[in-house]
Order: sequence, then C-alpha cells, then structure tokens
Amino acid sequence: MTGGRLALLVIMDGLRRDMVSPERTPHLWRLYHRGTRFAGYHSMFPSATRVVSACTATGCRPAGHGLIGNSLALLDADGRLHPHDAGAPGFLPARRALHGRALERPTLADRLAAWGGAMIFSNVSPGAALAHDPNRSGHLVNRIIAHAPGQEAPPMAEVTLDAAGDALLTGRFLDEAVAPGGRRPDFGLLWLGEPDASQHAWPLGSPEAWAAIAAADARLGEVMEAADRRRAAGDAVLLLAGSDHGHETVEGVIDVEAELFAAGLRPGAEAGLVTASNGSSVLVHMAPGRDPGPVLEFLRTRPWAEAVLEGEALRRQGHRPGVEGLVAAIAMRRHEGRNPFGIPGMVLVAKPAAGKPDRLGCGQHGGLGAAEQASVMVAEGPVFAAGATDAAPASPIDLAPTILAFLGLGDAGQPMDGRPLQGRPAGLA
Ligand SMILES: [Zn+2]
Repeated sequence: MTGGRLALLVIMDGLRRDMVSPERTPHLWRLYHRGTRFAGYHSMFPSATRVVSACTATGCRPAGHGLIGNSLALLDADGRLHPHDAGAPGFLPARRALHGRALERPTLADRLAAWGGAMIFSNVSPGAALAHDPNRSGHLVNRIIAHAPGQEAPPMAEVTLDAAGDALLTGRFLDEAVAPGGRRPDFGLLWLGEPDASQHAWPLGSPEAWAAIAAADARLGEVMEAADRRRAAGDAVLLLAGSDHGHETVEGVIDVEAELFAAGLRPGAEAGLVTASNGSSVLVHMAPGRDPGPVLEFLRTRPWAEAVLEGEALRRQGHRPGVEGLVAAIAMRRHEGRNPFGIPGMVLVAKPAAGKPDRLGCGQHGGLGAAEQASVMVAEGPVFAAGATDAAPASPIDLAPTILAFLGLGDAGQPMDGRPLQGRPAGLA
C-alpha cells in the first residue's frame, strides 16, 4: 500500500539554473535550503519540452521511449518519412497508429494506475502534456486536451499559456491533487508554461522575462505551503521542483532546408530527407535507400553547425541511429557572449517549420549549450538532506525511479534508464 505518501513534481518550464537567486526566486531558494539541490542536473538532447516530458514520464532516454524530438519524422513500413510536430495533440495517436504504441515504455501514470494513480496538470503544448499519459491511465488536465482514466474529460479552456493561466491551473492542481480532500493520487505533476513562454517572446533578462520567473516561483511557493499542510496532517510528501531545460539568446536563424536545396541535396520527405528543427538542434532523418554520405559531408562543413552527431556520439546523447531513419543530429553553433541585458549564451537556431515564430533576439533552446542544459532540480522529503548539494550528473530520466522508490514501488520488471536520486553520496554545501 502507498497510502499516506504523495510525490509532487513542479516544473518551471525553461528556467535556467543561473537565474535562481534569493531575490528573483525566493521560494525556490528556500527549497534549496529545505532539500537537496542537484548541481549536476542537466537536460536531455534535444533540450526540448516534449522530449523531456517523455523522459520524465518513462525514466528512459529518447531511444527508449521513442519521442525523440519536439519536431521529428516517423518512418513507415514502406520506408517513407512523415514529418510531425510532437506538440500537436494528434502526434502520439499517430505514432500509435504507425508503430502500435504511443510511447515504447510505460509512463509513471501507467505504473501507478493500480495504486493511487497519477494526476498530470500541464500548461505546455497538448503533445507534451499527453507524453505523460498517452494511454489514459491517470488524470490529465491541459488547456486543449484532458482525460480521466480510460475516458476523455473537458479541457480547461479558460487557461492561457501565460502567468495568469499557470495560476488558474495551479489552483486546480492544489484542489484536486494536493489538498487532503482531493483525489489523493500517488503522484501529482504541475508543469507550468512559464517562464518558457515569456522567454520565447521577450529577451532573456528583460523585465517581462524576470516577471515570468517571479510568477512561476510564486506558484512553487503555493505548492510548498500545500505540501506542508499535507505533512502536518501526517502524510509523507516528496516535493521535486525544477525545470526541463534552460534558454539561450537567438543570434541568428539558419534555413537548413534552403541551404540543402541550394547545394542540390534535395531535402523534403518526398525525396527521403527530413531536417526537423528543434530550435538550436536539428534531427536529420533519411529514408532507407538514400545515401547519407553527401548530406552529412555538406552539413559538417557548415559554419553554423557546431557538431554533427552520428553513430556513437548520437548514442551517447540517448539516441539510436537508424530508428525512424535518424542518421544524425546537429548541435547549432553558440558562444558565451551576452545579450543586451547581460545574459550569457548566444546561439544560432534552425528555421522552424512554416508559420512558427523564429524567436530572433529572444530565448530558445533545443541544443547542447551550457545554459540550455543547465536545468534545475531540488528534492525535499524523506532521506533528502536539508541544505545538501549533490554535484553528480543527474537528469530527467532519474525522476520516475526516484518517485517510484519514494512510493516503495520497484520497476515491476520494466526497467528504466535512470536511477533513483535517493541514497547518492551528497556533500553538505
Ligand atoms: Zn520546456
């Protein structure tokens, strides 16, 4: 039985670790002192919300669960590539139709369905929200999609993708997932849309971006208070809080497809070559039968490509070359220069699919840049020493194992790539 135990995860989407301070994020700073801070915590590759959502849900790297990019291609049995936006509500159903499963591994919501269950409240894209529970094993609330176990539910259409919407969603999260009179799940997730949304729309370090960080921190403060009330009522509560990735400033936008076209390299799904922009990284998919040599040779000579990852280098980033026709991933060039507000980290991005904003001068992510990878994680609860700092590497794949360990549940014969954060040697800061 897992009664009396509640695991909570709060994600402040896009919060960079160097933007956490006593002045800017007082609640998160207080949590640093009440729990153990993970100074070696980093994002995934691509450092993108939908990828990190699936990694968080499954405890697996992208190759394990199959949601390998915010945008990506799927390869059908006839060897044809199909470009997709994984943020669309139809992406995971389309993946299920093609491959038989929405994600290749069970989510926390699947694993907890036989116990108290999971309640997911996500104010990012419907595709990212659904990555936490594509099989409708638990409860999911988003402004565009929602479900209860096994059935559709009305979405929370009044929620907007901004601080006001985050506040509305947080209120419902606290009422239903945290308050003693709520549904009492094993696991409650609150994934805020800020500061990511504002950092995409305004320069990093601008008053608007700082205001979004302050608002997200205030929501965390509300969750901390509610968690304390549950503890006072005698329940054990694990509170994990942090972010999925950071941001860097977009210094230029590269039209990768146009350059391939100009070089006579025939991009496009029909020609068996899809370059899927993930902001400051690009996934390169190629249909079987097309020779990747000339394309990769061309990409390696591009001044905007900091690294073209193939083979073992791609495996080290959690991918399996060949699956979905993936032949390489490009990490876009960056440097430690500062934007007009003094925020370090300037990066080039790949032009997004038609109709999407390019974010020039504002924040973006997706690649391996230091500030994109420097996400935040702190754990407060049983066995996590107050005020301690754990500097060993950790990442979103460790969260599901940590939550299951706290609940006293194992992997039930379905192993994860990550490891529990409990019991690691953490030095006191
Ligand atoms: Zn994000």
